Amino acid sequence: MLYIQNYIDGGLADPLSGGWIDVHEPATGRVYAQAPASAAADVDAAVRAAQNAFPAWRSMEAEGRSRLLRRVADLIEERLEEFAQAESRDSGKPVWLARSVDIPRASRNFRFFATAILHVSSEAHQTDDIALNYTLRQPIGVAGCISPWNLPLYLFTWKIAPALAAGNCVVAKPSEITPFTAFLLSEVCMEAGLPPGVLNIVHGLGGDVGAAITAHPDIPAISFTGGTATGAAIARTAAPMFKKLSLELGGKNPTLVFADCAFEETLDTVLRSAFSNQGEICLCGSRIFVERPLYARFRDAFVSRVRDLAVGDPLEDATGQGALVSEAHMEKVLSYIALAREEGGTVLCGGERVAVEGRCAGGWFVSPAVIEGLPFTCRTNQEEIFGPVVTLMPFDTEEEALTMANGTPYGLAASVWTSDLRRAHRFAGALQMGIVWVNCWMLRDLRTPFGGVKQSGVGREGGWEALRFFTETKNVCIKL
Ligand code: NAD
Repeated sequence: MLYIQNYIDGGLADPLSGGWIDVHEPATGRVYAQAPASAAADVDAAVRAAQNAFPAWRSMEAEGRSRLLRRVADLIEERLEEFAQAESRDSGKPVWLARSVDIPRASRNFRFFATAILHVSSEAHQTDDIALNYTLRQPIGVAGCISPWNLPLYLFTWKIAPALAAGNCVVAKPSEITPFTAFLLSEVCMEAGLPPGVLNIVHGLGGDVGAAITAHPDIPAISFTGGTATGAAIARTAAPMFKKLSLELGGKNPTLVFADCAFEETLDTVLRSAFSNQGEICLCGSRIFVERPLYARFRDAFVSRVRDLAVGDPLEDATGQGALVSEAHMEKVLSYIALAREEGGTVLCGGERVAVEGRCAGGWFVSPAVIEGLPFTCRTNQEEIFGPVVTLMPFDTEEEALTMANGTPYGLAASVWTSDLRRAHRFAGALQMGIVWVNCWMLRDLRTPFGGVKQSGVGREGGWEALRFFTETKNVCIKL
């Protein structure tokens, strides 16, 4: 049994309460680790450590902070295989995916923000010959970072790296469902020589540790990624305390395929956008709208490719689809397949629990599902499923496509597949989303603003946006 510990004030610590949470391996359904069931007292100890570390960390030269954070990036890279195995074991994702996407990106997050702070500048405004204003962007103090289970280390570090780079100290909470790589990150930070208290990682349940971070009077900024309902609960607590809030929430992303698309390339990427990481990515395109003249051809080719996706042991290189993250999540996904049938949909393939032989016999596997015949207004097409389930819908006009694409409470990301440049620009402008991809999907440049509109969130991460979030802006006006 692996024992995961908190990382507070530069050292590893058991939870003050003495309580523990079972951590499961989704591919086998078995408990393989215990994580701390921390509570408000652990968060308080972490906040005190962070407050003590803050004066020295904020006044360290940018070059010094940068060097330490680049060292963290190097050490993650050196332990790539160990991190990838841990991420796969914890989340059920194929180990090749963790090795090629999740862990390299976690390391890049540190490297990106560690170098970004060497290039920051701020504005000056001269008021005629009367005065000179300049803008200071100062670290906030202790930042709270709360992240979900789907891209555990990738999203955890996407918040921690800019917060630290900007000169803040951090109290962070990974998902209790996937705590393993955050624990390995604690080891890396100790080895890198990060000063005690600069980063603190407190494990535990959302209602305990997450809520305590959100409500803590000495944490003036909260960066959260997770479900929309949780985001609303966090906002209810944080707003009357006037905390800075960044909320990256759920999605129900449309994929718009026009008859003039480059067919094979579109098919390849739409398949990836639908089922990468078992569909457990906030950016996955789960509602696929296809222009009617192409509909039947696209549907048949797509379903045939989905049937070829191998569901199986995440450790095997040939596995396309690993396990879903938890038994509860698997049950939720299966319940949406049943709902789709009740709503009149036809399941063209998948949507069944899969029994994988051998060591994975008890695992939580579901075959990727493609459903057609549903209106865009039904619950299956309105609610986030966050699993290997997509719907196909034909459309006749651009107007109809746009109405359906924009017709959910969410607004995170869309992809548009067309050879018509002017149409691409029209849709880029009219889609109510934070991110629009044209003839591509999840092509990420870390300098670009990342986030959603409507119920997909408030604020943006990435590049300068993240560094601005994690700093307080001050105008200094000097009379000339
Ligand atoms: P979740 O909201 O259940 O949990 C996210 C984190 O919040 C976890 O660490 C959890 O412990 C914590 N938490 C739970 N209750 C809390 C509370 N009351 N106060 C404070 N913290 C609390 O989400 P999840 O199931 O882990 O993740 C899936 C969701 O995340 C999906 O909705 C998905 O779309 C979303 N997501 C969004 C993005 C994005 O960038 N927009 C990225 C990835 C995932």
